Amino acid sequence: MSTENKNWEYADAVEGTGHIKLKEKYGLYINGEWVAPRSKTYFSSTNPHDEAHLAEVAQANKQDVDAAVIAAERAYHDVWSKITPAERGKYIFRIARLMQEQAKELAVIESLDSGKPIREARDIDIPLACNHLFYYAGWADKLDYAFPNQKKEPLGVAGQIIPWNFPLLMAAWKIAPALATGNTVVLKPAETTSLTALKLAEIIDEAGLPPGVVNIVTGFGDTGAAIVAHPKVSKVAFTGSTAVGKLIQKTIAGTDKKATLELGGKSANIIFDDAPLDQAVEGIINGIFFNQGHVCCAGSRLFVQENIADKVIRKLKHRMQSLQIGNPLDKNTDIGAINSSEQLKTINKYIDIGRKEGSECFQVDCALPNKGYYCKPTLFINVAQSSVLAQEEIFGPVLTIQTFRTIDEVIQKANNSPYGLAAGVWTDKGSKIFNLTSKLKAGVVWANTYNKFDPASPFGGYKESGFGREGGLHGLGAYLK
Ligand code: ADP
Repeated sequence: MSTENKNWEYADAVEGTGHIKLKEKYGLYINGEWVAPRSKTYFSSTNPHDEAHLAEVAQANKQDVDAAVIAAERAYHDVWSKITPAERGKYIFRIARLMQEQAKELAVIESLDSGKPIREARDIDIPLACNHLFYYAGWADKLDYAFPNQKKEPLGVAGQIIPWNFPLLMAAWKIAPALATGNTVVLKPAETTSLTALKLAEIIDEAGLPPGVVNIVTGFGDTGAAIVAHPKVSKVAFTGSTAVGKLIQKTIAGTDKKATLELGGKSANIIFDDAPLDQAVEGIINGIFFNQGHVCCAGSRLFVQENIADKVIRKLKHRMQSLQIGNPLDKNTDIGAINSSEQLKTINKYIDIGRKEGSECFQVDCALPNKGYYCKPTLFINVAQSSVLAQEEIFGPVLTIQTFRTIDEVIQKANNSPYGLAAGVWTDKGSKIFNLTSKLKAGVVWANTYNKFDPASPFGGYKESGFGREGGLHGLGAYLK
């Protein structure tokens, strides 16, 4: 990468792949066994960095989903609802420990399959996934303390559908509280990132979890729809787009299925003139460019107080120029590949719209790899509140910048969105932080930091960002009646 303010290069530091074990072809993990799909159909999982084929993955149809749900129901009645909560906890601890042991392999596979930088997979995704399992394993035998004076019971079979931005982490988010509370699971990973969920199935098998307690079925949207519609699924846990979230709500309307939906976002990152600017700029970069902007809570709308706007924009551009873009497996890489060619097309469509709308566009001056799905980190400056770019979720490394003068103005602008997943506030004044946190319609508000996650803190949205909370005690409650 060449930049005007850099006259040095990093030496390549590409993580090895010799230690990873991928099968050529993956079946479905149903009732503790690997089975060929009744559909007889497989699809290819590819590496978004170089478009290389990684493995064949089974495409589950309705009959396959039915077999998985029946296995989960049987396991619920025969085993999982009968063993002691402490035993349930032990199984979850065992899965977490095995994941830790295989962390390096999981991180490399995650990076290969999703395009995310190995540093993030290694330092964030995999450790956080393990932490979620450890956290909920600890709750399994303490539900009476979690919900005193209440008789809580599991729901039954949980149908869980996850997206491609944090594949293994989302699987752990979903599976851990479901198992801790005594439910059984049918989980579907996203079609472009099935591999770490399939490795998780191998780990679950190694942990000796009773057959049928966790079933992993791979496939596309129709596989997910079959899980949602299955009459024996009592709880739907979905993370993904608002459009699919709405379809799911239509399907389950009038049934007694419970649901938690964690949907899209267009989160505001607000920076006041009394903020420590260098720290704030680093947080803004992390907020939007972390994981190529493939984060539902990405800080994709920046609001800067007008009197510091020029300075902040200058600092942002300077910092963006030093970002390393390229091979996700390289330990120097800050920004890896976009997850799929479809997603790259979507992001480029929004960048074109932004240019046509007439906002000032700034892109990092660098060469992108010749192959694979890459997008330059992009800023749009002086974006109108009504602009498509400021309203719609892009799910890519694209930041819009607007200015404000007063607190009331920025609260009004930040809340002027159909979404309400997260927000960030950068200021030296605690009083401003508390003022904003109580008025911003967002499920999570970070102060002087961004994109920090912990298994003990609940996560979820307002408005079209969905409902229900995952993480913490709230996450347990969502799997109990
Ligand atoms: P994105 O647009 O970010 O890919 P989606 O909401 O389409 O997000 O996908 C998230 C997950 O939902 C994926 O696992 C996908 O296969 C699944 N999915 C897509 N369509 C449906 C549907 N109609 N019903 C249930 N799940 C679906």
